[in-house]
Amino acid sequence: MFVRTVLYLLVAILLITLLRYLIGALARSFGQLAGLGPRRPRADPKAGGELKRDPVCGTFVAASSSFKKTVRGEVVYFCSTECRDRYLG
Ligand SMILES: [Zn+2]
Repeated sequence: MFVRTVLYLLVAILLITLLRYLIGALARSFGQLAGLGPRRPRADPKAGGELKRDPVCGTFVAASSSFKKTVRGEVVYFCSTECRDRYLG
């Protein structure tokens, strides 16, 4: 009797794991269909681009709407010209 109960439990756990995997896979494919896209699933859809950190004040700015400056071959993003000038000066 006990062995049978354990067996049922194991089967139940296995089924739940399988179901969770299936639901996860389904959710992912639905997300891609909904236009969230597989390339940048963590990006903020409102920002319309990647978020970059202003090294001067620490504010996160959208790459498309920030002040850019190439410093030693690396693009640095700023929230304002003030921060950019402070970084350079
Ligand atoms: Zn700033």
